[in-house]
Order: sequence, then C-alpha cells, then structure tokens
Amino acid sequence: MLICEITRWFIKLYKKGVMRMFLDIGLALLICMGANSFLGVEITLKIVIWAVIFSLLPDFDFLIEFAIHKSVGGRFMRQHRKITHYPIIYIPIVFMIWIVWGKVWLLVAGLCLLAHFVHDSMIMGWGVQWGWPVSKRHIIFFRQSVLGETLGIPFKFFRAWSPKKVEWLVSEYGDPSWVKNYFISPIFFIEMIFFILIITKFFDCVNF
Ligand SMILES: [Zn+2]
Repeated sequence: MLICEITRWFIKLYKKGVMRMFLDIGLALLICMGANSFLGVEITLKIVIWAVIFSLLPDFDFLIEFAIHKSVGGRFMRQHRKITHYPIIYIPIVFMIWIVWGKVWLLVAGLCLLAHFVHDSMIMGWGVQWGWPVSKRHIIFFRQSVLGETLGIPFKFFRAWSPKKVEWLVSEYGDPSWVKNYFISPIFFIEMIFFILIITKFFDCVNF
C-alpha cells in the first residue's frame, strides 16, 4: 500500500517537471567521464550514484515546495531556489568530502554542484544567488521571456536582479504552466539531445 502511494507520488512529481533534471544527471555522467579520461578514475556505480546525487542535491527544495503546495513556481517565489541554491552552503560539505574521501571525490562533488548552478543560471527561471549572503542578486545569463510567460523580458546576455525585482518579475511574468510549456519548448529538446548524446557516450565508457 505504502509502495503504491510512494509510486503515485513520484509519478505526480515526474509530471510536475522533474524532467529538467535530466540534463543535471547528464552533466554528472559527463563529469565522471572527465574524471576517467583526465585522472584515470575508474567509473564505478558508487561514483556515478554519488555524482548524480550531488548534481541534483540543490533541487531538494523542489520536493519541499511540491510537498507543501502541490506545485512549484508559477507566479510565486516560495521554497524552490532558496537556501539549497546558495552555493556558499556547500563549501563546508565539499570540504568535509575532501577530508574524508580525498581530492577525487572533492572534484566530482564540487563540479557536479557547480554544473547544477551554472545550468540554473541559464535561459529559464530566476537565476542563482551566487554571492549570497554578500550579494543577494539573482544572476542569470541569456534570459528573455520564454514560452508561456507574459512577453516583456527582453534578451540580455547577463542580468543581476535584486530579490525585490525577482519577486515582482515572478508575479508579473511567472508562468503557472511552466512545466507543461517547458516540455514543448526548444529548450527541452536541446537539453534532451544533450542528455541522449551524453548517455550514449557514457555507456560506451562503462562496463558495470
Ligand atoms: Zn536547481
């Protein structure tokens, strides 16, 4: 009974936009391949699982927001992209990894987290507060209004929005159907192509 309930919950979550995480997973696999090519690190199931965990870790707040509100984003700025999306909070975590497991694990965990934040700072969404708590500005590259949003955010290579500005932008331009619209956007297709290319190459490199 409990398993059925958990499965149903995951299916619901999947429909709500977990698909964007595919590129994060692809980037984690790419980092494992890089560690293998440049450092001779053996790609074990253990390192792959941990790389994927680190590449998805900041989105733990997605689950929290979904559990509380049954939706994520739209015209509201709630739990998602708050504390777990402040890069500084991972410094002590990766430092501990370095002390306990050594520099290869430090590199893999650090790069997976970095890849997640870079991905979140591109094209869609409201950016990442890279400098928190020194600067609370949301940094984003290549952003303009995307499918489903109210038109009005013109293209700009780089933006640094204040939290107040982001609150206003979300209420003004936020797309309540962003998940559905993301699936039919070119961004989704480009990300899926990247994911498929990476996964194909990945299975060439490993032999679990
Ligand atoms: Zn994220």
